[in-house]
Amino acid sequence: MSGSATVTIVGGGIIGCAIAAELMRRGWHGVRVLERVTVGGQASIAYAGLLGLPGSGALDDPLSELGAASLARFPAVVADLRARTGIDVEFRHTGALQLALTLDEEEALRAALPLLRARDAACCWLDHHELRQLEPAVSPLFRGALLLPYEHQVLSPRLVEAFARAASLGGAHIDEGVEVVGFERAGERVISVQTRTSRIPTDQVIIAAGAWSGHLTAQLGVPLPVGPLRGQLIRLQGWDLRVRHTVYRGDLYLAAKADGTVAVGSTEELAVYDRRPTLEGVRQLTTFAQETIPALGRAIFLDALAGLRPWSADGLPVLGRLPHYQNVWIATGHARNGVLLSVVTAELLADLLEGKAPALSLEPFDPARFLTPGS
Ligand SMILES: Cc1cc2nc3c(=O)[nH]c(=O)nc-3n(C[C@H](O)[C@H](O)[C@H](O)COP(=O)(O)OP(=O)(O)OC[C@H]3O[C@@H](n4cnc5c(N)ncnc54)[C@H](O)[C@@H]3O)c2cc1C
Repeated sequence: MSGSATVTIVGGGIIGCAIAAELMRRGWHGVRVLERVTVGGQASIAYAGLLGLPGSGALDDPLSELGAASLARFPAVVADLRARTGIDVEFRHTGALQLALTLDEEEALRAALPLLRARDAACCWLDHHELRQLEPAVSPLFRGALLLPYEHQVLSPRLVEAFARAASLGGAHIDEGVEVVGFERAGERVISVQTRTSRIPTDQVIIAAGAWSGHLTAQLGVPLPVGPLRGQLIRLQGWDLRVRHTVYRGDLYLAAKADGTVAVGSTEELAVYDRRPTLEGVRQLTTFAQETIPALGRAIFLDALAGLRPWSADGLPVLGRLPHYQNVWIATGHARNGVLLSVVTAELLADLLEGKAPALSLEPFDPARFLTPGS
Protein backbone atom coordinates (compact mmCIF):
# COMPACT_ATOMS: atom_id res chain seq x y z
CA MET A 1 0.00 0.00 0.00
CA SER A 2 1.41 3.39 -0.83
CA GLY A 3 1.04 6.98 0.21
CA SER A 4 0.24 7.89 -3.40
CA ALA A 5 -2.97 5.82 -3.48
CA THR A 6 -6.21 7.78 -3.60
CA VAL A 7 -8.28 7.65 -0.43
CA THR A 8 -11.94 8.62 -0.19
CA ILE A 9 -13.24 9.35 3.29
CA VAL A 10 -17.04 9.31 3.54
CA GLY A 11 -18.11 11.74 6.29
CA GLY A 12 -16.65 15.07 7.35
CA GLY A 13 -17.26 14.82 11.09
CA ILE A 14 -14.47 14.88 13.62
CA ILE A 15 -13.47 11.30 12.80
CA GLY A 16 -13.25 11.74 9.03
CA CYS A 17 -11.42 15.07 9.37
CA ALA A 18 -8.98 13.70 11.98
CA ILE A 19 -8.09 10.80 9.68
CA ALA A 20 -7.61 13.14 6.73
CA ALA A 21 -5.34 15.42 8.80
CA GLU A 22 -3.27 12.47 9.97
CA LEU A 23 -2.85 11.09 6.43
CA MET A 24 -1.71 14.50 5.20
CA ARG A 25 0.71 14.81 8.14
CA ARG A 26 2.22 11.51 6.98
CA GLY A 27 2.66 12.85 3.47
CA TRP A 28 -0.22 11.11 1.67
CA HIS A 29 -1.61 12.50 -1.59
CA GLY A 30 -4.99 12.05 -3.21
CA VAL A 31 -7.06 12.24 -0.01
CA ARG A 32 -10.65 13.39 -0.39
CA VAL A 33 -13.34 13.91 2.25
CA LEU A 34 -16.94 13.78 1.01
CA GLU A 35 -19.41 15.41 3.39
CA ARG A 36 -23.13 15.34 2.71
CA VAL A 37 -23.90 18.59 4.55
CA THR A 38 -21.22 20.70 6.27
CA VAL A 39 -17.97 19.69 7.93
CA GLY A 40 -18.50 19.04 11.66
CA GLY A 41 -22.21 19.86 11.35
CA GLN A 42 -23.63 16.64 12.82
CA ALA A 43 -22.58 14.85 16.06
CA SER A 44 -19.35 16.79 16.04
CA ILE A 45 -21.12 20.06 16.91
CA ALA A 46 -20.93 18.69 20.47
CA TYR A 47 -19.74 21.64 22.44
CA ALA A 48 -18.62 20.13 25.74
CA GLY A 49 -15.39 18.55 24.49
CA LEU A 50 -14.79 16.49 27.60
CA LEU A 51 -11.65 14.39 27.52
CA GLY A 52 -12.09 11.86 30.30
CA LEU A 53 -11.68 8.13 30.55
CA PRO A 54 -14.48 6.04 29.03
CA GLY A 55 -15.40 2.57 30.23
CA SER A 56 -14.70 1.23 33.70
CA GLY A 57 -11.20 2.70 33.87
CA ALA A 58 -9.72 -0.77 34.44
CA LEU A 59 -6.33 -1.41 32.87
CA ASP A 60 -7.79 -4.39 30.98
CA ASP A 61 -10.83 -2.49 29.67
CA PRO A 62 -10.18 -1.96 25.93
CA LEU A 63 -12.33 1.19 25.76
CA SER A 64 -10.52 2.76 28.73
CA GLU A 65 -7.18 1.82 27.16
CA LEU A 66 -8.20 3.42 23.87
CA GLY A 67 -9.32 6.57 25.69
CA ALA A 68 -6.14 6.78 27.77
CA ALA A 69 -4.00 6.31 24.65
CA SER A 70 -5.87 9.10 22.87
CA LEU A 71 -5.67 11.52 25.78
CA ALA A 72 -1.93 10.89 26.09
CA ARG A 73 -1.48 11.89 22.44
CA PHE A 74 -3.54 15.11 22.68
CA PRO A 75 -0.80 17.56 23.80
CA ALA A 76 1.42 16.72 20.82
CA VAL A 77 -1.49 16.70 18.36
CA VAL A 78 -2.97 20.04 19.45
CA ALA A 79 0.50 21.62 19.36
CA ASP A 80 1.03 20.26 15.85
CA LEU A 81 -2.42 21.47 14.72
CA ARG A 82 -1.67 24.92 16.09
CA ALA A 83 1.63 25.03 14.25
CA ARG A 84 0.02 23.87 11.00
CA THR A 85 -3.20 25.93 11.14
CA GLY A 86 -2.81 28.69 13.77
CA ILE A 87 -6.00 27.41 15.46
CA ASP A 88 -6.08 27.21 19.26
CA VAL A 89 -8.48 24.41 20.19
CA GLU A 90 -8.62 25.44 23.87
CA PHE A 91 -7.07 22.24 25.19
CA ARG A 92 -7.26 22.78 28.96
CA HIS A 93 -6.36 20.71 31.99
CA THR A 94 -9.47 21.03 34.15
CA GLY A 95 -9.71 17.86 36.23
CA ALA A 96 -13.18 16.53 37.02
CA LEU A 97 -15.46 15.83 39.96
CA GLN A 98 -17.98 12.99 40.12
CA LEU A 99 -20.53 14.19 42.66
CA ALA A 100 -22.42 12.05 45.17
CA LEU A 101 -25.72 13.19 46.63
CA THR A 102 -26.73 9.95 48.36
CA LEU A 103 -24.83 7.35 50.36
CA ASP A 104 -25.45 4.81 47.57
CA GLU A 105 -23.86 7.17 45.06
CA GLU A 106 -20.89 7.72 47.35
CA GLU A 107 -20.37 3.98 47.83
CA ALA A 108 -20.53 3.33 44.08
CA LEU A 109 -17.99 6.06 43.36
CA ARG A 110 -15.66 4.94 46.13
CA ALA A 111 -15.80 1.36 44.80
CA ALA A 112 -14.35 2.60 41.48
CA LEU A 113 -11.44 4.34 43.19
CA PRO A 114 -8.92 1.44 43.29
CA LEU A 115 -9.27 0.93 39.51
CA LEU A 116 -8.82 4.62 38.81
CA ARG A 117 -5.87 4.95 41.19
CA ALA A 118 -4.09 2.24 39.24
CA ARG A 119 -4.11 4.71 36.33
CA ASP A 120 -3.61 7.92 38.26
CA ALA A 121 -2.56 7.75 41.91
CA ALA A 122 -3.83 11.30 42.43
CA CYS A 123 -7.49 10.20 42.09
CA CYS A 124 -9.08 10.53 45.52
CA TRP A 125 -12.29 10.98 47.48
CA LEU A 126 -13.16 14.50 48.67
CA ASP A 127 -15.50 14.84 51.63
CA HIS A 128 -18.14 17.54 51.88
CA HIS A 129 -15.75 20.19 53.23
CA GLU A 130 -12.95 19.46 50.80
CA LEU A 131 -15.44 19.61 47.92
CA ARG A 132 -16.75 23.00 49.08
CA GLN A 133 -13.24 24.35 49.39
CA LEU A 134 -12.33 23.23 45.90
CA GLU A 135 -15.55 24.30 44.14
CA PRO A 136 -17.59 26.63 46.40
CA ALA A 137 -20.30 27.12 43.75
CA VAL A 138 -21.36 23.45 43.92
CA SER A 139 -24.52 22.89 45.99
CA PRO A 140 -23.86 22.21 49.70
CA LEU A 141 -26.27 19.27 49.49
CA PHE A 142 -23.61 17.00 47.95
CA ARG A 143 -21.89 14.56 50.34
CA GLY A 144 -18.60 14.58 48.49
CA ALA A 145 -16.98 13.80 45.16
CA LEU A 146 -14.46 11.65 43.39
CA LEU A 147 -11.63 13.84 42.10
CA LEU A 148 -10.33 12.78 38.66
CA PRO A 149 -7.29 14.99 38.10
CA TYR A 150 -6.41 13.61 34.65
CA GLU A 151 -9.46 15.02 32.83
CA HIS A 152 -9.11 17.72 30.17
CA GLN A 153 -11.40 19.72 27.91
CA VAL A 154 -11.16 20.97 24.37
CA LEU A 155 -13.48 23.13 22.24
CA SER A 156 -14.84 20.43 19.91
CA PRO A 157 -16.09 22.58 17.00
CA ARG A 158 -12.70 24.24 16.88
CA LEU A 159 -10.92 20.88 16.96
CA VAL A 160 -12.94 19.73 13.94
CA GLU A 161 -12.10 22.99 12.18
CA ALA A 162 -8.40 22.51 12.97
CA PHE A 163 -8.37 18.94 11.64
CA ALA A 164 -10.19 20.04 8.48
CA ARG A 165 -7.91 23.03 7.95
CA ALA A 166 -4.76 20.94 8.54
CA ALA A 167 -6.04 18.38 6.05
CA SER A 168 -6.81 20.92 3.33
CA LEU A 169 -3.59 22.91 3.88
CA GLY A 170 -1.80 19.58 3.43
CA GLY A 171 -3.53 19.12 0.06
CA ALA A 172 -6.62 17.06 0.91
CA HIS A 173 -9.87 17.93 -0.89
CA ILE A 174 -12.80 18.49 1.42
CA ASP A 175 -16.08 18.59 -0.48
CA GLU A 176 -19.20 19.76 1.36
CA GLY A 177 -22.72 19.14 0.13
CA VAL A 178 -21.65 15.88 -1.52
CA GLU A 179 -23.59 12.77 -0.55
CA VAL A 180 -22.27 9.29 -1.21
CA VAL A 181 -25.14 7.21 -2.53
CA GLY A 182 -23.41 4.02 -3.65
CA PHE A 183 -20.25 2.12 -4.50
CA GLU A 184 -18.94 0.38 -7.62
CA ARG A 185 -17.36 -2.95 -6.81
CA ALA A 186 -14.95 -5.28 -8.56
CA GLY A 187 -14.63 -8.52 -6.60
CA GLU A 188 -13.43 -7.73 -3.08
CA ARG A 189 -12.61 -4.14 -3.91
CA VAL A 190 -14.54 -0.90 -4.24
CA ILE A 191 -13.24 0.87 -7.32
CA SER A 192 -15.35 4.01 -7.21
CA VAL A 193 -17.65 5.96 -4.97
CA GLN A 194 -20.93 7.16 -6.41
CA THR A 195 -22.25 10.57 -5.37
CA ARG A 196 -25.53 12.13 -6.53
CA THR A 197 -23.73 13.75 -9.45
CA SER A 198 -20.48 11.92 -10.14
CA ARG A 199 -18.43 8.76 -9.93
CA ILE A 200 -15.14 9.14 -8.07
CA PRO A 201 -12.52 6.43 -8.71
CA THR A 202 -10.65 5.45 -5.57
CA ASP A 203 -8.02 3.04 -4.27
CA GLN A 204 -9.17 3.07 -0.65
CA VAL A 205 -12.48 3.94 1.06
CA ILE A 206 -12.91 4.92 4.69
CA ILE A 207 -16.46 5.03 6.02
CA ALA A 208 -16.62 7.62 8.81
CA ALA A 209 -20.24 8.60 8.34
CA GLY A 210 -21.23 8.64 12.00
CA ALA A 211 -24.73 7.41 12.81
CA TRP A 212 -25.34 6.77 9.08
CA SER A 213 -22.37 4.41 8.66
CA GLY A 214 -24.52 1.28 8.98
CA HIS A 215 -26.65 2.37 5.99
CA LEU A 216 -23.51 2.67 3.87
CA THR A 217 -22.05 -0.69 4.87
CA ALA A 218 -25.45 -2.27 4.18
CA GLN A 219 -25.12 -1.03 0.60
CA LEU A 220 -21.90 -3.04 0.47
CA GLY A 221 -23.76 -6.12 1.68
CA VAL A 222 -22.31 -5.92 5.22
CA PRO A 223 -25.02 -4.52 7.49
CA LEU A 224 -23.52 -3.32 10.77
CA PRO A 225 -25.61 -2.37 13.80
CA VAL A 226 -24.66 1.31 14.02
CA GLY A 227 -27.32 3.93 14.64
CA PRO A 228 -28.00 7.20 16.42
CA LEU A 229 -27.79 7.84 20.16
CA ARG A 230 -29.20 11.33 20.39
CA GLY A 231 -27.63 13.68 22.90
CA GLN A 232 -28.95 17.06 23.95
CA LEU A 233 -26.93 19.88 25.46
CA ILE A 234 -27.73 23.40 26.64
CA ARG A 235 -25.44 26.39 26.86
CA LEU A 236 -25.65 29.03 29.56
CA GLN A 237 -23.90 32.33 30.07
CA GLY A 238 -22.64 32.05 33.64
CA TRP A 239 -21.30 35.61 34.14
CA ASP A 240 -18.80 35.56 36.98
CA LEU A 241 -19.31 31.88 37.75
CA ARG A 242 -16.01 30.16 38.49
CA VAL A 243 -16.12 26.39 38.22
CA ARG A 244 -12.75 25.08 37.21
CA HIS A 245 -13.45 21.34 37.14
CA THR A 246 -15.82 19.47 34.89
CA VAL A 247 -18.62 18.46 37.24
CA TYR A 248 -20.46 15.18 36.69
CA ARG A 249 -23.37 13.45 38.32
CA GLY A 250 -23.87 10.13 36.57
CA ASP A 251 -24.16 10.76 32.83
CA LEU A 252 -24.92 14.47 33.21
CA TYR A 253 -22.23 17.11 33.42
CA LEU A 254 -21.41 20.80 33.55
CA ALA A 255 -18.37 22.17 31.77
CA ALA A 256 -17.33 25.81 32.12
CA LYS A 257 -15.61 27.01 28.95
CA ALA A 258 -12.90 29.66 28.60
CA ASP A 259 -15.34 32.24 27.15
CA GLY A 260 -17.54 32.21 30.27
CA THR A 261 -20.23 29.95 28.86
CA VAL A 262 -21.24 26.72 30.57
CA ALA A 263 -22.12 23.58 28.61
CA VAL A 264 -24.62 21.30 30.35
CA GLY A 265 -25.06 17.86 28.85
CA SER A 266 -26.08 15.39 27.84
CA THR A 267 -29.12 13.19 27.43
CA GLU A 268 -29.17 9.74 25.81
CA GLU A 269 -32.00 8.74 23.46
CA LEU A 270 -31.63 5.68 21.27
CA ALA A 271 -32.68 5.26 17.65
CA VAL A 272 -33.88 8.80 17.03
CA TYR A 273 -32.79 10.46 13.76
CA ASP A 274 -34.33 13.80 14.75
CA ARG A 275 -31.76 16.45 15.70
CA ARG A 276 -34.15 18.88 17.38
CA PRO A 277 -33.92 19.35 21.16
CA THR A 278 -37.03 18.37 23.16
CA LEU A 279 -38.78 20.03 26.08
CA GLU A 280 -38.06 16.97 28.25
CA GLY A 281 -34.36 17.01 27.36
CA VAL A 282 -34.03 20.71 28.14
CA ARG A 283 -35.98 20.26 31.38
CA GLN A 284 -33.69 17.45 32.49
CA LEU A 285 -30.59 19.53 31.82
CA THR A 286 -31.83 22.79 33.34
CA THR A 287 -32.98 20.95 36.49
CA PHE A 288 -29.62 19.22 36.81
CA ALA A 289 -27.74 22.49 36.27
CA GLN A 290 -29.66 24.39 38.89
CA GLU A 291 -29.61 21.57 41.46
CA THR A 292 -25.87 21.15 41.03
CA ILE A 293 -24.85 24.81 40.95
CA PRO A 294 -27.71 26.87 42.38
CA ALA A 295 -26.23 30.16 41.11
CA LEU A 296 -26.91 28.94 37.56
CA GLY A 297 -30.58 29.74 38.17
CA ARG A 298 -29.59 33.31 37.33
CA ALA A 299 -27.60 32.38 34.23
CA ILE A 300 -28.71 33.38 30.75
CA PHE A 301 -30.06 30.52 28.64
CA LEU A 302 -28.16 30.76 25.35
CA ASP A 303 -29.35 27.77 23.32
CA ALA A 304 -30.06 24.07 23.20
CA LEU A 305 -28.65 21.67 20.66
CA ALA A 306 -28.84 18.00 19.87
CA GLY A 307 -26.56 15.66 17.97
CA LEU A 308 -26.74 12.07 16.81
CA ARG A 309 -23.84 10.15 18.29
CA PRO A 310 -22.85 7.05 16.33
CA TRP A 311 -23.70 4.10 18.57
CA SER A 312 -22.94 0.44 17.89
CA ALA A 313 -24.95 -2.46 19.29
CA ASP A 314 -22.31 -3.27 21.97
CA GLY A 315 -21.47 0.37 22.68
CA LEU A 316 -17.87 0.03 21.43
CA PRO A 317 -16.24 1.78 18.49
CA VAL A 318 -16.12 -0.03 15.15
CA LEU A 319 -12.61 0.27 13.74
CA GLY A 320 -10.90 -1.73 11.06
CA ARG A 321 -11.31 -3.37 7.70
CA LEU A 322 -14.84 -4.03 6.52
CA PRO A 323 -15.28 -7.82 6.26
CA HIS A 324 -15.28 -9.21 2.68
CA TYR A 325 -13.40 -6.17 1.32
CA GLN A 326 -9.70 -5.54 0.81
CA ASN A 327 -9.85 -1.76 0.55
CA VAL A 328 -12.82 -0.59 2.65
CA TRP A 329 -12.25 0.57 6.21
CA ILE A 330 -14.62 1.80 8.86
CA ALA A 331 -14.18 4.19 11.78
CA THR A 332 -17.36 4.84 13.73
CA GLY A 333 -19.40 3.93 16.83
CA HIS A 334 -17.51 6.33 19.10
CA ALA A 335 -20.76 7.18 20.91
CA ARG A 336 -20.10 9.61 23.79
CA ASN A 337 -16.34 9.67 23.19
CA GLY A 338 -15.72 10.63 19.57
CA VAL A 339 -13.94 13.88 20.40
CA LEU A 340 -11.63 12.13 22.84
CA LEU A 341 -11.05 9.16 20.54
CA SER A 342 -10.56 11.16 17.33
CA VAL A 343 -6.81 11.42 17.82
CA VAL A 344 -6.07 7.75 18.41
CA THR A 345 -8.60 6.67 15.78
CA ALA A 346 -6.81 8.74 13.14
CA GLU A 347 -3.46 7.23 14.06
CA LEU A 348 -4.80 3.66 14.06
CA LEU A 349 -6.61 4.02 10.72
CA ALA A 350 -3.55 5.59 9.11
CA ASP A 351 -1.43 2.69 10.41
CA LEU A 352 -3.90 0.19 8.95
CA LEU A 353 -3.87 1.93 5.58
CA GLU A 354 -0.08 1.89 5.59
CA GLY A 355 -0.07 -1.83 6.41
CA LYS A 356 1.61 -1.23 9.79
CA ALA A 357 0.71 -3.10 12.97
CA PRO A 358 -1.39 -0.65 14.99
CA ALA A 359 -0.02 0.52 18.34
CA LEU A 360 -3.03 -0.95 20.18
CA SER A 361 -4.94 -4.15 19.60
CA LEU A 362 -8.00 -3.45 17.49
CA GLU A 363 -9.55 -6.86 18.08
CA PRO A 364 -12.28 -5.63 20.49
CA PHE A 365 -13.34 -3.06 17.88
CA ASP A 366 -13.18 -5.30 14.80
CA PRO A 367 -16.33 -4.85 12.65
CA ALA A 368 -16.30 -8.64 12.09
CA ARG A 369 -17.59 -9.13 15.65
CA PHE A 370 -21.08 -8.31 14.43
CA LEU A 371 -21.13 -10.88 11.64
CA THR A 372 -22.82 -14.19 12.22
CA PRO A 373 -20.62 -17.20 11.32
CA GLY A 374 -20.74 -17.89 7.60
CA SER A 375 -22.07 -14.45 6.67
C1 LIG B 1 -24.53 16.53 22.98
C2 LIG B 1 -23.27 15.75 22.72
C3 LIG B 1 -22.17 15.91 23.57
C4 LIG B 1 -20.99 15.20 23.33
N1 LIG B 1 -19.93 15.42 24.16
C5 LIG B 1 -18.76 14.76 23.91
C6 LIG B 1 -17.63 15.00 24.75
O1 LIG B 1 -17.69 15.80 25.67
N2 LIG B 1 -16.48 14.30 24.50
C7 LIG B 1 -16.40 13.38 23.49
O2 LIG B 1 -15.34 12.78 23.32
N3 LIG B 1 -17.46 13.16 22.67
C8 LIG B 1 -18.63 13.81 22.87
N4 LIG B 1 -19.72 13.57 22.09
C9 LIG B 1 -19.64 12.51 21.06
C10 LIG B 1 -18.98 13.00 19.80
O3 LIG B 1 -19.50 14.25 19.44
C11 LIG B 1 -19.23 11.97 18.67
O4 LIG B 1 -18.80 10.69 19.08
C12 LIG B 1 -18.44 12.37 17.41
O5 LIG B 1 -18.78 13.67 17.03
C13 LIG B 1 -18.72 11.41 16.27
O6 LIG B 1 -18.03 11.91 15.16
P1 LIG B 1 -18.23 11.29 13.72
O7 LIG B 1 -17.30 12.00 12.83
O8 LIG B 1 -18.13 9.80 13.82
O9 LIG B 1 -19.77 11.56 13.39
P2 LIG B 1 -20.46 12.90 12.83
O10 LIG B 1 -19.94 14.12 13.48
O11 LIG B 1 -21.93 12.67 12.88
O12 LIG B 1 -19.96 12.95 11.33
C14 LIG B 1 -20.40 12.04 10.36
C15 LIG B 1 -20.58 12.85 9.10
O13 LIG B 1 -20.88 11.97 8.02
C16 LIG B 1 -21.75 12.65 7.14
N5 LIG B 1 -22.42 11.67 6.30
C17 LIG B 1 -23.34 10.73 6.66
N6 LIG B 1 -23.72 10.02 5.60
C18 LIG B 1 -23.05 10.50 4.53
C19 LIG B 1 -23.04 10.18 3.15
N7 LIG B 1 -23.81 9.19 2.65
N8 LIG B 1 -22.24 10.88 2.32
C20 LIG B 1 -21.44 11.88 2.81
N9 LIG B 1 -21.43 12.23 4.12
C21 LIG B 1 -22.22 11.56 4.97
C22 LIG B 1 -22.68 13.40 8.08
O14 LIG B 1 -23.30 14.49 7.42
C23 LIG B 1 -21.73 13.84 9.19
O15 LIG B 1 -21.24 15.14 9.01
C24 LIG B 1 -20.90 14.28 22.26
C25 LIG B 1 -21.99 14.15 21.39
C26 LIG B 1 -23.16 14.87 21.61
C27 LIG B 1 -24.30 14.73 20.64
